[in-house]
Amino acid sequence: MEKIHTDHPSPVKELPDTLEAKIIDAVLEERCASEEGMRRYRPLLEERAHRIVARLIVGPGEGDGPDNDSLNQIHALFNLADTIVKDELDSDRYPRPACPDDGGCSACCTHMRIVLSAQEAAVIARELLKLTEPEKAEIAHRLPSLGKSGPGSRCGLLGEQGLCTLYAARPINCRTHRSCSITACEDRIRLGRNAGEEVVFTYPFDDLIRKSFHHALRPSGTPHFLEMNTFLASVLHDDEELAAWASGQIPVEDGTQHPGVT
Ligand code: SF4
Ligand code: SF4
Repeated sequence: MEKIHTDHPSPVKELPDTLEAKIIDAVLEERCASEEGMRRYRPLLEERAHRIVARLIVGPGEGDGPDNDSLNQIHALFNLADTIVKDELDSDRYPRPACPDDGGCSACCTHMRIVLSAQEAAVIARELLKLTEPEKAEIAHRLPSLGKSGPGSRCGLLGEQGLCTLYAARPINCRTHRSCSITACEDRIRLGRNAGEEVVFTYPFDDLIRKSFHHALRPSGTPHFLEMNTFLASVLHDDEELAAWASGQIPVEDGTQHPGVT
């Protein structure tokens, strides 16, 4: 049994051109694959991409002082991502999002496959530890009937009132998910149920933020991703495992992946 630590999201002081180009190319390739994508996204991406990528990757270390707690640094990255999203939306370059600010729509939480990096899972684990036993039991109780999150199945953190139980610690994929049309989401969800598809996103900067965030978390490689409900089930039934994740130490069998790692 070996212990691996969550990678410290150490800031990259100088953003190499090659890295910036790599992230932007990856997003352009995904977003602009179709003629419609080229028309809608390429001009906006070309105008904004460099600024967004540089801000997220270079920014977290600036002014943070001597804080070496990697989980706190992930929260700093979350805050920065939220700020970039807000700035982009306030810039009036895009149609206004339809997602209600008051949590009045949680349809995507009930149909998306929710994946998170191991580092984000450690943040979730730390927040789970702060819940009361009845609160943890409530989540654990609903998990068996849910199975994995995805089309037709909800995220285990979605409470009965339609609100996220750990909203402040929700993963980057949730923070960068919005739409300018609830009807479009409903249509996609309806079709997605039948076709096994998922809701699509409409804001091009979301991809840039996600990719930059994950790079900042793990500059030297690709993060391990976990499925949310699988992860929750594994830690909510094992106090030692929950404590290990919450401390940023993820137990991994030599040569094998953690059960929650996909
Ligand atoms: S992305 Fe769509 S489903 Fe999700 S909250 Fe926004 S409008 Fe609702
Ligand atoms: S973590 Fe929260 S915001 Fe994300 S899908 Fe689950 S309930 Fe929704």
